[in-house]
Amino acid sequence: WLEDLVLLDTTPSTQLEARGGLANTLYLTDHQTATYGRFGRKYYAANTGGIYMSANLGQSNYEKHVQYTILAASAVVSAIEKLTTKKPTIKWVNDVYLGKKKIVGILAESGPSGMILGMGINFDIQYFPEELSDRATSLYPNQEYPSITESDLISKIWSEFRRLENLNYLEIYKSHCFVLGMTVSFKQNNHDLQGVAIDLTPQGELIVNCNDGIQRILNSGEISLKKW
Ligand code: ATP
Repeated sequence: WLEDLVLLDTTPSTQLEARGGLANTLYLTDHQTATYGRFGRKYYAANTGGIYMSANLGQSNYEKHVQYTILAASAVVSAIEKLTTKKPTIKWVNDVYLGKKKIVGILAESGPSGMILGMGINFDIQYFPEELSDRATSLYPNQEYPSITESDLISKIWSEFRRLENLNYLEIYKSHCFVLGMTVSFKQNNHDLQGVAIDLTPQGELIVNCNDGIQRILNSGEISLKKW
């Protein structure tokens, strides 16, 4: 389990630090210059506010990245609910939302010494660039949660991660996942497909009843939501 904490004033990416770093270590910064999300996409990191952290979890207990992502998202919503009166939700597979805006992005990757699990948390971010203004929001500790600090949130997330690992975190995930029951569109083998997301497999893959009558299982990739 996490034995060491490496605090960085600034870094291109805690995800890269953790990849090149030691197992069972958490890399943490509030100033990141080359934050990336899934598929190498750019992720906005504010100059002030924001929590960026990546854990090198060592050898994986799970076969699939999606399971780590599901556990991490469950830990994040559980931590926020324990510390605040907010009701966060999850967009399958890796994003935590408040209302219709994202507050946390999660990224699980394989590193040379094990699983790397990263989170970018919008915490006390006052300004988002124009293109994110209708898609991103932040926890605002001074306005809404006078008693929450960055370190409260960080330690609660990892203690929830540890606690939920041995519990039925999939149920927590499902009860927060607003995608279930919705119509989703996605691409598979260059075909545009659409259907209703009905459930998750025990590993956290999305089960979709497609309009062509075939049930498909998605373990990553992208979905877009209709009428959301
Ligand atoms: P989405 O489903 O929102 O497109 P994703 O899960 O496919 O995201 P991620 O890597 O998690 O991909 O996030 C990248 C996307 O998140 C970007 O395309 C951008 O729209 C959005 N984004 C970037 N920075 C932030 C941020 N700080 N807060 C919230 N959303 C952000």
